[in-house]
Amino acid sequence: KRFDRGLDKSSKSLKRRINELLANFRYIDEEFFEDIENMLIESDVGFEATLEISDILREEAKIENVRTMEDAEELIVKTLVDIYENSIPPYEGVHLNEEGLSVLLFVGVNGVGKTTTIAKLAHQYIEEGKKVVLAAGDTFRAGAIEQLHVWGDRVGADVVSSEIGGDPAAVVFDGIKQAKETGADILMVDTAGRLQNKKNLMLELEKMHRVIQKELPEAPQEVLLVLDATTGQNALIQAKEFKQTTDVTGIVLTKMDGTAKGGIIIAIGKELGLPVKFVGFGEKMEDLRPFDADNFAYGLFS
Ligand code: GDP
Repeated sequence: KRFDRGLDKSSKSLKRRINELLANFRYIDEEFFEDIENMLIESDVGFEATLEISDILREEAKIENVRTMEDAEELIVKTLVDIYENSIPPYEGVHLNEEGLSVLLFVGVNGVGKTTTIAKLAHQYIEEGKKVVLAAGDTFRAGAIEQLHVWGDRVGADVVSSEIGGDPAAVVFDGIKQAKETGADILMVDTAGRLQNKKNLMLELEKMHRVIQKELPEAPQEVLLVLDATTGQNALIQAKEFKQTTDVTGIVLTKMDGTAKGGIIIAIGKELGLPVKFVGFGEKMEDLRPFDADNFAYGLFS
């Protein structure tokens, strides 16, 4: 059975919260629903999703015979899994071209773990025998360019970059050129994460998109938004901003090793309608796992 060890901490915690809540279960009353609502909010499930879950539970509890602690547990778990699965498109993994170059664009605010995620994923693809080129599209921070070079050396990927302050779209163009020349399978593009200058960031991302599509009409195959799970509801706010400016296709949720609040995954599904495609659970290059609704349910409640 697939077991996502990255979810270990967070999942056990949501499970533990449910168990604690059910430990005092006698019968269903208003207080019971309020306790569930509080538990969900504390687990970062988010306001919207919590209210919907609570409504469903109230309805179901009328229909179903909820007499024992086990009945109540089954109902809660089923409702949480359903709400996540019904909110997102069916899991399809990362879309990559069978033949020729695929481009993956990574967006997200500074510090969420974008560069690290790129390195981790590059490492996985390289282990599978693919050739990977990295493009340092965050030209704003010297640290970001340097860091991508360090990771590129470590995982065995070519890195294309410019001087600090260079045009990110030009870096992308050079990245595509280099990837084509070297017969690479995947180009992974790092981008700047300056949400405080939203207009500029939007224009920058649009321009990068245009350059990519001019060279490769079907690319980018994915635009992955990287979110830091430890920032809870702030991560959701960031995600909504990015959704307005870019065609995000999936989420990478990092730092799941640093939080006990797995409920954020439900909130992402419910409020954004976007699938979590990967979960990061540490700083090393192995610390990234693919994620789908199956191992969500398994990790969360087993
Ligand atoms: P960026 O600014 O978005 O590119 O973020 P970085 O990739 O530089 O990461 C910022 C910090 O978060 C670094 O210290 C990383 O080692 C750390 N980090 C990234 N992903 C994870 C993760 O899944 N778990 C933990 N604990 N730390 C992480």
